[in-house]
Parts: sequence; C-alpha cells; structure tokens
Amino acid sequence: MDKITIKGLEVYAYHGVFPEEKREGQKFYINANLYCDLSKPAATDHLEDSTHYGLVCEQITKSMTATSYDLIEKAAGTVAKDILLHFPLVKGVEIEVQKPEAPIGLPFETVSVTLEKGWHRVYVAFGSNLGEREKLIQEALDEIKAQDFVRDMVSSSFVISKPYGGVEQGDFVNGVCGFDTFLTPWELLEFLQSLEQKAHRERLIHWGPRTLDLDILFYEDLILDSPNLVIPHKDMKNRDFVLTPLKEIAPFFRHPITRKTVEEMETELVHRNTQEGTYIYGTV
Ligand code: AMP
Repeated sequence: MDKITIKGLEVYAYHGVFPEEKREGQKFYINANLYCDLSKPAATDHLEDSTHYGLVCEQITKSMTATSYDLIEKAAGTVAKDILLHFPLVKGVEIEVQKPEAPIGLPFETVSVTLEKGWHRVYVAFGSNLGEREKLIQEALDEIKAQDFVRDMVSSSFVISKPYGGVEQGDFVNGVCGFDTFLTPWELLEFLQSLEQKAHRERLIHWGPRTLDLDILFYEDLILDSPNLVIPHKDMKNRDFVLTPLKEIAPFFRHPITRKTVEEMETELVHRNTQEGTYIYGTV
C-alpha cells in the first residue's frame, strides 16, 4: 500500500519508569509510516486529497508530550491511536519510538519499540431473547457507535427467529452490524463482553436465554483459532438469522477460508433449510 513516511522527528518528553525521567525528561525520536491511498493526490496535486505531514508531526509532538507514561510502548500506542483518530485518510500506521538516552548504563546506540495499528472492517452478530429485546439491542448498538474506535457503522434490520440449539426458551431478535475499528480482535471481544455484562446477560445454560449476545463474525480477512476466540465465527454457515441480516449489509464480503461470499453462503443455507425448516420467521 502507498505510504507517507516521517523519519527522526525529535520530541522532548517525559516517559520512563524512573522518577528522574519523569522530572527531567529526555529526547525521543519518532519514525512513522502512514498507510493511505495516494492515487488521488498523485493525480490531482491537491493537499486536501492527502494527509498533511506537517500536521501529523504536530499531532505526534502533542501526543508524546500531553502525558508522561512509564513505557514507550504506551507512548507509541497513543501516537498511533491519535493519528488514526485525527487523519481519516490514514488506514494504518506503523510507529517507532526511539529512546537513545534511556538509562541503561551500558554503551548503546538507541532502544526503540515499533507497533502497528489500523482500521479493520468487522461484522458482529447480535441477539436477545430476554427482557426488552429491541431496546437492549438498540442500546448496545448506540454504545458501539459512540466509541472513538468505531467508524462507518451500519446495521441490518432486526429479524425474529426461533431458538437454536434445542433449549426450550423464547424467540430471539437477531441482526448484524458492521463497522471499522482499530481495536485488536481480543480488545474487541472484551469490549463486546462488557456490553453483554451491562445488559446483565446471565450465562446459565449453553445456548440458553440471554439478554444480549454479541458474536464477532468476521474481522476483515483474519483467520484466528484460539481457545477463547475463533474468527470467522464457527457456526455462521448454519444460522439463517446471521446470514440473512449479514447479506443485507455485506452481500459480497468473502469468507476468508471457504472464499464464498455471504450471498453464496446464504443461498446455500436457504436451499438446505427448505428441507429442514428455517429459524427466521419475521422481521421487527
Ligand atoms: P456465546 O455463549 O456464544 O456468546 O459464547 C461465548 C464465548 O465464546 C466467549 O467466552 C468467547 O470467548 C467465545 N468465542 C469464541 N469465538 C468467538 C467469537 N468469534 N465471538 C464471540 N465470542 C467468541
């Protein structure tokens, strides 16, 4: 991808674990790669079609000096986040913070950390079958939308579905939303679980009733198989109450493993379900 590079921006700041580092400060050098599509400014020659690197340097200086952190990891993370928040054409950043005067007591040239952060398209399924179902869902959607780490959010319409998984319980309201976020998959899971907890979700029975259930379906084209997080979501292909709303907002999104589009997955499932019976039976 195209990029704008800033090398060796010098900033005097106060990061470090030792009190004297916080008191007296020292020099830091910042290197930044800003990943963005430069085809438009390359054609038009207009600054407003690109990202003003002078303003980015000012932002980096501000982010480095506003607070003093123990760790340059935290300083680099803050710089990365602030660039993504203030410069909408930047899709991803790589930030290196160098600390050449770090109190190591041995001869060395510099010490540094480098981290990456970027906007990623994600799709999240939601469902509720306890309490004021639509209200609980709407509150969660509003809260997602209000976060600074979320942008370009869209939501499907809500469908009503019969319970899935064989437990006797009330009907569900389901749907899917999509948004860009710079959270990592685990940070996103933690955020969604905090919303579930806010809605007082009780995990009494597996596949049992819940006030709010939020599942990560896709995180761009990431494939992740860890003990507590599996992406793409495993059972998606069997759930019409996921695929039908997802088709409404992202019909051409491709499953990174099967390479099928959401539309193709949904068509296959609807075909199978005509024999087996469908879970969806209405819209809200
Ligand atoms: P559930 O009862 O369906 O909400 O499942 C909750 C558990 O599934 C959580 O503790 C997660 O750690 C785990 N999990 C695994 N993959 C996912 C995913 N893609 N989205 C949400 N939760 C997941």
